[in-house]
This record gives sequence, structure tokens and C-alpha cells, in this order.
Amino acid sequence: MSKQKSQEKDIIASLDRLPAREEIYAKLQKKFGSLAEYYGFEPIFTPPFERYRQFLPLIKAGFLDERIPVQCRCGLDNDYMLRVSGILSALRAYISHKMSDRPQPVKLAFEGEVFFAESRRDATLHGRYECGLLMAGEEGPVAAAEIVQIIWKILDGIGVDVGDLELRVNAIGCVSCYPSFRSALAAYFRSRAARLCRSCRKAAKSRPVRALSCADEKCKIFAKHTPQVLDFLCDQCKKQLRGFLEFLDELKIPYYLDPRFFRDGLWFNTLIFEFSGKAKEKPIPAAVVDDNGVKGDVASESGILSGADHETAIIIGEGGGCTRAAELIFGKRVEAVGFELYVDRLIAFLSRRRLVGAQKPIIYLTHLGDLAKRKSLALMETLRNGEIEVKESLSRDSIKSQLKLAEKAEAKFALIMGQKEALDDTIIVREVGSGIQETISQEKLIDFLKAKLKK
Ligand SMILES: [Zn+2]
Ligand SMILES: [Zn+2]
Repeated sequence: MSKQKSQEKDIIASLDRLPAREEIYAKLQKKFGSLAEYYGFEPIFTPPFERYRQFLPLIKAGFLDERIPVQCRCGLDNDYMLRVSGILSALRAYISHKMSDRPQPVKLAFEGEVFFAESRRDATLHGRYECGLLMAGEEGPVAAAEIVQIIWKILDGIGVDVGDLELRVNAIGCVSCYPSFRSALAAYFRSRAARLCRSCRKAAKSRPVRALSCADEKCKIFAKHTPQVLDFLCDQCKKQLRGFLEFLDELKIPYYLDPRFFRDGLWFNTLIFEFSGKAKEKPIPAAVVDDNGVKGDVASESGILSGADHETAIIIGEGGGCTRAAELIFGKRVEAVGFELYVDRLIAFLSRRRLVGAQKPIIYLTHLGDLAKRKSLALMETLRNGEIEVKESLSRDSIKSQLKLAEKAEAKFALIMGQKEALDDTIIVREVGSGIQETISQEKLIDFLKAKLKK
């Protein structure tokens, strides 16, 4: 197989969902479904395809610069693309099915896979399993806060230590106030272009907010003294942010306001928020809300999220206002707020914290000889009734190959029933790692294993 071909195959295989992780997926789905329902979010399932043409206005506006759609064709019709975002597809469905005629807001809970390339120059296919929430017909701060609250509860409910979570928020302006901030920022960076790194020099012209999060030491210094978005917000956006933060305070959900936090390659406007799994302990500066508007503690001194520190944190979901995106798809104003939880990243974070994985030690039942084989079947039933799960390979007769399989399965204990044990109703319990073993009566096996597993 050529190298390219095998790489392509690996990408597809990397998108498979394997049995080992299904337990946590199921747990998350259950928690997500029940909490979403409790808060009045109705489940919606959209197909993995969308019309490319319908998303073209978003693409042209640069709203999909970080999720380049995978275009595909059906016969002669090449106007399809794979779904790039659950939020956008739910929003599209809201528009397609004229849900704006229903009492507002309409609350939708979605889940499914999305596919995209990260940049136009990179042909690597990225796939992701998402679940999320969309509230359409309302953009107010309470909508954003409600979504944050539900996500917080879901994460707490599946066993994430909420102390390990970081909620980063910012107001990024709207069509009427963002352009003036952008020009001020561009002018600031342009006048310092000679001392910026190459990519920031380029960004200063078209996407100046990108230079705010550059990890380059020189750029970091300049990024400290840039014009602040909070000084440019229109009254409406200020009100949104203040309201959002007040709700979060009320809900006692810790957050930090990071005025350098932007997602200019995605479709968000007005408010943005992001949950990430903490990489290590660090101080969280309190956000300060004053009467004249909103001022955030600039996080630069504590180093939060500026470059290297944030690299090891895992972003597990992002959300924000989607009114502008809806407007571009729909051609008229639809207020909306949405959030996407990146399930695979969440699971990766949980595994790093050792919350997922081999929670249950594996027990492997092996046999030697025909009588032992027959008795093994009965013993398996007894173990199952005693709520002890065992793996086996009864179809194999060689004890050597069975023990090899036990090792491969990373079993903690191997149960060995030989001819002698089969006759006198005993069994050998061997600790696979150390090889230490003892013979006990089958009658006492369940209690013995339960005691061992407790340790
Ligand atoms: Zn505004
Ligand atoms: Zn830079």
C-alpha cells in the first residue's frame, strides 16, 4: 500500500467509535438528553449533508475559515457538503421548517458527527462527534447563561470535577461595533509591523485579532497594550455582556473574561464562551463589572491563555451568539445562541484525568481439557449471576494461547481450570502481572474475586 493510501485509511479509522469508549458515550448521551429535556430543549436530528450553496454566504464572510466544508456530489448534483457544525445545521433546520412561526424561543438539542478541513491548504479530513444546544428566536444574555448552566451541569453529572473546568468568555461585538475595534487594532499592529512575527504581520492586515493570541514572545509584549474590545462595544453589546456575567455570578459559575479571546474563523458574534479542561493549576482572575460598562481583568499578568500555557488545556466546547450567521443563511434577522460540546475531546480530557479507561479490571477464564471446558461454561453462568464479568475464549483449546489472549486483553486475573481443578471443583486464580497464583474452591470464587477487586 502506498504511504498516501495508508494515511488516508488511518484518517478514516481514526474517526471510528470503538466499543471501549461506548460506555462513556452512552453515559454522556443519557445525561445530555435528560438535562436538555428538563430545560425544554427538543431533540433534533439533521442529516450529515447540507446544501453548499446555502452556506456560501457564511463561507464568503469568513465564518467557516476554521471549518472548511468537505464538498461532495450525488450523481450530477455537486451542491452538497458534509455537515460542518451542529449549531449551523440546527439553525438551518429552524429556518427550513419555519420554526420562527412557533412560540419563541425554540430550543433544540442536537448531536452527530461533523466533518471539515482546518484550512484551505490542508487536505486532512477532521471529524468530530458533537452534541449541543441551540436557542433560536432569542439572543439575550439569559439564553447564553442558560446554555452555559446546562453544559456545566452535564459535565458535572458525568463526573468531571468542575474545579478542573475553565469557562472563558468575551464580548466580541456586533456588525455595528466590531468594525471600529478591528480598524483600531489593525492600525495598532500596522504601526508595529516591523517588530511582529511573520504571521502576525500578515494577520495585521486582514485578521488583526489573530495577533492577540500569538505565542511569539515579541508579539505577546505588543498584545498587552492593544486597544481593548470592551472600549468599543456598542450599548447593546455592553448590555449583553453585563447581563451575561450577572447571570453567571447569580448561578455561581466561575468564569473569566478574556478580552483577547476571539474566534474570528467561526460564525459567532456578540458573546462567545468556551469550556476547557485545565491543564494545570493557575490563578483565575476575577472579572470586574463596573457601572459604566464592563471591564475585564486583563489576564496577561497571570499568563492565562496567552500562548504556551493554554496549549495543554483541552477545549471541550464552544458557543456564542449566532444571529449574524442566521442572518447570512436566512437573509433576515433571527436571533440565536448556540453551543457545541466536542465529545471526543471531552473523553480525551477525562482519560487524561483517568476518569475513563479500564475502570473495571478484566478477569479472563481459561481451561485445559474437555471436562474443564464443559465445567467452564457452567462456572461462567455462576459468575454472571454473581455479577462478576469474565472474558473467555472457550473455542481455543491451547492453554498457552488462552493465556496470551488474557495478557493481550490486559486482564488483571486469569482463572485457570485444569483437569484436576475440574474434578475437585477448585480453580486457580492467577494475577497476570505478577504471576502469583492460588487455588481456591469454586464455591468461594465469587466472594474471593469481589474482595480482590475491591483492593
Ligand atoms: Zn455591538
Ligand atoms: Zn506573532
